[in-house]
Amino acid sequence: MKSNRLGLIPKDDQAQALRIRRFGMAAASYAMWVVLILFCYSRGLMNMSAGMLYGIILMLMAGNAIFYLVLRSGYNKRLKDPSLTMPQMVMGALFAVVVIFHAEAVRGVMLLIFLVVFTFGVFRLHVRQFLHLTVLVLASYGGSIIYLTHFHPGRINTEQEILSWVVLASILIWFSFIGGYINRLRSDGMRFNAELTQAMATIADLAIHDELTQVYNRRHVFTILQREKSLADRGMASFAVCMLDLDHFKQVNDTYGHMAGDAVLKTTAQAIQKNIRAADYLARYGGEEFILVLTYPDVEDGLKCAERICRFCAEQRFAGLPDAFRITISGGVTAYRPSESVDDLVKRADEALYYAKGNGRNRIEYL
Ligand code: GH3
Ligand code: MG
Ligand code: MG
Repeated sequence: MKSNRLGLIPKDDQAQALRIRRFGMAAASYAMWVVLILFCYSRGLMNMSAGMLYGIILMLMAGNAIFYLVLRSGYNKRLKDPSLTMPQMVMGALFAVVVIFHAEAVRGVMLLIFLVVFTFGVFRLHVRQFLHLTVLVLASYGGSIIYLTHFHPGRINTEQEILSWVVLASILIWFSFIGGYINRLRSDGMRFNAELTQAMATIADLAIHDELTQVYNRRHVFTILQREKSLADRGMASFAVCMLDLDHFKQVNDTYGHMAGDAVLKTTAQAIQKNIRAADYLARYGGEEFILVLTYPDVEDGLKCAERICRFCAEQRFAGLPDAFRITISGGVTAYRPSESVDDLVKRADEALYYAKGNGRNRIEYL
């Protein structure tokens, strides 16, 4: 925790870590340009005083320190654009304009700083924002040309500079559209990923649930049983299985129709689900049969739970069916015996259910 708070990049927040890494890339680009500018200055290619040069470098460092503090403190998360792309690019563009204003012989090549600045916008900016930045750059650069032509005509070849301005304008406008397009592709990709993740979660959910009753399906209950069996075989838990079957369900379909039968299955499944703990599992085994995996350490408690469900279901009313209509269930409970197969366990629960049917239904038998 301590190292996380003190680290240069947060470890617990991926989005923030990415923003700070991107800031680091921008800072590295500035460092590269500062070295190049210092070199040009030492060769007498920059028309500025040493004080001016160091002033620019200091302001650049201060600006970057502020950006870093805002990002690292997390204050940026309260802002509309937490990546701070636009303000960082505006600073980069202004830095470039100041350098270009003072770069005499190397002014043309220094225009490339704008391309480096614009490249960072590809991560975040829309075409419109790129165009706003283009206007800012062209107005500042154009203003520099006009200022130098008027006040320092000896320091500028105006015709050549206007040509550079036109070339820069074409490149930046072109970049604005291409950059905005790349950003759109990137955000479309991110949205597609999110939708795909959601779809995969839905598919995973559908794969283990019964469509009609929304409880687990037969396939998934065998996965659960295998898991409980391995836990029990390692002496970590014991469990019981209860096979449930609706009594005389065929008559419901015959009397009220298949749709009403479906509604009875749904309501009954919900009623059973309401009566089990979060640690237990209910699945539709097939047709009007359900299976319960009861993870009680003591099978007596599992049996009591099945009996409570049996009583509860017998009192259940059903919307759309006559008020007096009731349906009962029969159940067979059995406890897992060490090392036996899941199939043997389920078969024994089925036998217990068979006895419950034979003994008059609306009851639970234990085997
Ligand atoms: P018992 O008390 O012996 O269990 O009698 P029963 O009528 O419930 O048993 P039987 O096996 O004779 O009939 C089960 C009926 O369940 C037959 C079938 O049409 C109906 N059934 C199975 N699946 C569905 C379903 O998804 N929806 C509806 N509505 N009925 C179903
Ligand atoms: Mg039945
Ligand atoms: Mg049946």
